[in-house]
Formats: sequence, C-alpha cells, structure tokens
Amino acid sequence: MVGPSCTHVMPSGRLCRATPLRDEPFCFWHSPETAEEAADARRLGGLHRRKKKTVGAAFGFRGLRTVEDNQALLETAAIETLALENSVGRNRALAGYASIGAKLIEVGDLEDRLAVLEAATRAAGPAVEADERDDEP
Ligand SMILES: [Zn+2]
Repeated sequence: MVGPSCTHVMPSGRLCRATPLRDEPFCFWHSPETAEEAADARRLGGLHRRKKKTVGAAFGFRGLRTVEDNQALLETAAIETLALENSVGRNRALAGYASIGAKLIEVGDLEDRLAVLEAATRAAGPAVEADERDDEP
C-alpha cells in the first residue's frame, strides 16, 4: 500500500513524492505553509556545511575513516588539551587520549600484519581444496 505523496513538480519534471504534511498535498520542503521554515533549514544546512569545511581545514581534520585519521584527531585533541591550564580534568583527558592512542597503534599494527599475510596468501596462489586432493590418483 502506498500512502499519499507530495505533488510538487521537481525541476526534472518528476513529482517530489515525499510524505506530505497532514491534510496537505505538499511535504515540509514544498508546502507554502512551511516555506519560511524550509528556507531557514536550507540556510542552516548550508551554514553547517561551510562551518564543517572551514573548521575541518583549520584543524587538518580529514574524517574518522582510517586509523591515521583517528590518530590525527586524537593528536589535535591532545595538543589542544595540553594547552589548557593544568587540572585533574585535563590530566584525565590526556590519560584517556593515551589509552585510546595505544589501542589505535594496536589496530594499525594488526592491519599492517593482516596486509602482509593477505599479500603472502595471494602470492602463494589459490588453496587446494580438501575434496580436490581426494580426487587425485
Ligand atoms: Zn515535496
């Protein structure tokens, strides 16, 4: 069963088809009733995207997808925390960074060792299956 959908015609000529507001033919983004809120939301979205780019560039943040990315963020956080006035809270945070950093080193080391093993396995060629060995004379 398909419920009602937004009847706004997109620039491509297709219908929007998003879930409409209650008792309205249009969704939040296309209803004249919510046009102002939708414009604010679009503007805020643009501001957040620009802020994300600017702050990311200022701190050299590349994301959290690799061990190296995570280590870079941890190093930035550690440096920023080191620059704070000495306190029990600062030292707890630094101890936490050291603990997480040690785990990241371990994960990075395991990734490297796995890559070496995978390369060696590929170089050795396909493994002979047990039932293939049984068929040999
Ligand atoms: Zn719509």
